Amino acid sequence: MEQKQSIEQFKGQARLPNFAIPKRYDLHLKLDLSACTFSGTVQINVSIVEETKFLVLNALELDVHQVWFTNSHGQKYHPCDVVLDGDDEVLVLVFDKALGIGEGVLGVDFSAVLNAHLVGLYKCAYMDGEEKKNMAVTQFEAVDARRCFPCWDEPALKARFKITLDVPSELTALSNMPIINEKCDGDVKTVSFEESPIMSTYLVAVVVGLFDHIEDTTSDGVKVRAYCPVGKSDKGEFALNVAVKTLDLFSKYFSTPYSLPKLDMVAVPEFSGGAMENYGLITYRETELLFDPLHSTAARKQRMAIVVSHEVAHQWFGNLVTMEWWTDLWLNEGFATWISYMATDILFPEWKVWSQFLQYTTGGLIMDALEQSHPIQVEVHHARSVLEIFDAISYEKGSAVIRMLQAYLGDDIFQKSLSSYIKRYSEKNAKTEDLWSVLSEESGLKISEMMDDWTKKQGYPVISVTAKDHILEFEQTQFLSAGLLSEGKWIVPVTISLGSYERRKNFLLETKSSEVDISDLVDTSDTNLKNKETCDEQLWVKVNIEQSGFYRVKYEDKLAARLRKAIEHNSLEATDKFGILDDAYALCEACEQSLSSLLSLMDVYRKEADYIVLSKLIDVCYNIVKVSTEAIPDSVNELKQFCINLLMFPSGKLGWEPVPGESHFSTLLRAEVLQALVTFGHDKTQNEALDRFQKLLNDRNTPLLTADTRAAAYIAMMRNAGSSHKEGFESLLNVYREAGTVQEKERILRYFASSPDPDTVVDVLNFFLSDEVRDQDIIFALPGISLECRETAWKWTKENWELILTKYGAGLLLTRFVRDVVTPFCSNEKADEVEEFFASRLHPSIAMTLKQSIEHVRIKARWVQSARQEQSLQELVKELAGKK
Ligand SMILES: [Zn+2]
Repeated sequence: MEQKQSIEQFKGQARLPNFAIPKRYDLHLKLDLSACTFSGTVQINVSIVEETKFLVLNALELDVHQVWFTNSHGQKYHPCDVVLDGDDEVLVLVFDKALGIGEGVLGVDFSAVLNAHLVGLYKCAYMDGEEKKNMAVTQFEAVDARRCFPCWDEPALKARFKITLDVPSELTALSNMPIINEKCDGDVKTVSFEESPIMSTYLVAVVVGLFDHIEDTTSDGVKVRAYCPVGKSDKGEFALNVAVKTLDLFSKYFSTPYSLPKLDMVAVPEFSGGAMENYGLITYRETELLFDPLHSTAARKQRMAIVVSHEVAHQWFGNLVTMEWWTDLWLNEGFATWISYMATDILFPEWKVWSQFLQYTTGGLIMDALEQSHPIQVEVHHARSVLEIFDAISYEKGSAVIRMLQAYLGDDIFQKSLSSYIKRYSEKNAKTEDLWSVLSEESGLKISEMMDDWTKKQGYPVISVTAKDHILEFEQTQFLSAGLLSEGKWIVPVTISLGSYERRKNFLLETKSSEVDISDLVDTSDTNLKNKETCDEQLWVKVNIEQSGFYRVKYEDKLAARLRKAIEHNSLEATDKFGILDDAYALCEACEQSLSSLLSLMDVYRKEADYIVLSKLIDVCYNIVKVSTEAIPDSVNELKQFCINLLMFPSGKLGWEPVPGESHFSTLLRAEVLQALVTFGHDKTQNEALDRFQKLLNDRNTPLLTADTRAAAYIAMMRNAGSSHKEGFESLLNVYREAGTVQEKERILRYFASSPDPDTVVDVLNFFLSDEVRDQDIIFALPGISLECRETAWKWTKENWELILTKYGAGLLLTRFVRDVVTPFCSNEKADEVEEFFASRLHPSIAMTLKQSIEHVRIKARWVQSARQEQSLQELVKELAGKK
């Protein structure tokens, strides 16, 4: 009785009890890839720091066979009770006699199944010639090491790992450390790896499969390898090159060398995320590691550089210095993200990735404008729920907030502080507050006072700006897409430009409202400015220069009009033109500005040539078409015509053919402009796209469609595919089936469901669930569902929900069904219907995504209502559509 009560105390706890601490794991795994099972023995050196009758560690879906504990005097104990609790994911060992304080070794024999859900130690299929075979891979972050071996599965409980594997002798076996010994015994080989330095359990990794590899060495002599599918090792060259360069770069930036003797990178055929930074053994989804000059787009190449830099940066930020608990996950993800842009900008300055960082962090601004958002530093009550915080708040807002702080402190202080932080917490764990204290020491400023606002509070401000002569008035309030709140105060580093980028002012907005005198910026000797009219026109005020701060700005009408002039006169940087449009769109969605005013602003971008600005403009076009379908259905075609008009200038300049030596941005832009034009139904572009698609059907290597322009042709094909025109779908299906690269398959999946015909889309959705599409690739396929078929997709999802749940398991992939199928709706009726459907089908892993998706629908519904009230909206749309 007494004992039972004691076991109860371990239930429902967020963290493991701390009376025993692991120091070293000796792990031996024996894999049977044909039976899809494994067995293992782990011997864990532990320090008992408090006398105890219990040892409590994590385990999940493991069969535990034998357990023993040997203390430092050689006395052996066997537990009288072994309890595996599947809900709390713990293994409780109960001993008759208390284990005394001191060192000991805990041994466990166990076995399990190699699962198919891409977590823990899982199986994945690969082709060996014509034969389908199994390989085995681990994915432990966040809390799935416990599915592979019993362990203290918390980031703060770092230990050394000595790993040994029994695997089929023809396969390559990899782990975090280099191989120290390999012994063959018939069909099986035993591979032993060197003992690792101390690290967290979520970073332990094993890969067993068939690969070819290429290698290179950093200037510090670290051997770096890229493991690729057999016969495709040349495709790993680009990633290998980026990894070698970034290892050198980060060693210098942090003044700390890379801490392991080698770094391997592996392209894994089945993988749920993008990449995983396991210490010394980074695993990637194939499309993130394999570069194919013919089939990879410019956008994909850039993303690969960012992803590789991100994972390499984790070897310091995350692996060497680890967050103390998942609450501080953003320390890993926010920093790795921010620094991956820094590194990519250094390696490929021509890509100007900092301007594209804004496109990326918009995701953070969107999510954090929801009532269902959460603070960057978030309480994690149950380890399993940590999966949901690998989201736009940890990555996008996290990295944006870091960039804002870096811009405020300056590069030098920031770099010095980061390198002190890495040195001080090397092989240890840290909290957000630890980083703030290092930054405070180096800068002499009270960093936590300012930053707590951004990391401990949900949301961010919108700053309203009004001008009275030479005084600018600022007032902040919390920005929410469902309507602004009157409360809310942040410490905001505000930057202002006045009429030119030479005339700027910075200040910290620490109160609800504040005034700034800008007389010193107005050069009264400038005769041009004496005239009231030219003065107004030239003295535009842009707040949040280059959008380096994580907040939005709302200008009074007079200032907004001046900015529109400045955009027309091309006086602003691309980042600012991007920011003005992005803020205006968000304010319009929140019903703080009219849709008419947004359309008038869009109209001044007609002569725009810059990639990020146009990319934003296209994004806004897609969204307003979506909302207008409900708000002003009779005017949607005219609205699409207006969108087409806006893109005539860049499309005329870019055409279909890449120009040798053209800029990276031209290549990126051509792809997006053509896709938008076929989506909005521009006849000329659609016909051209269909012609080119026919050429592709006759010759898969036709130069008429490059990797970058193919998507436009695929969309055109599917937009024309319907019940009366089945060949469209079938011909694209053939291209998919014959595609020899993952890049080409990914591209087709993205646009497969873009047909406006419900029957075709049902066929496509059923195809997504077939064996011809790998489970992991569903993330590409779902966002492409056409606006016309959102209802079809929702109906299909409801009908197939049980099947979807079984096939994709309860994890990241399942959340995509919720997000991508639900968010295109714009009415409260639909929001209610979705809520009702999931009321009896709620699963913890989709809870947050579902709430956020429904909130998005209600926000759009509110916007639709508001747009319907706008008096002259339809006349304006007509006028803009006619203005060529
Ligand atoms: Zn990461």
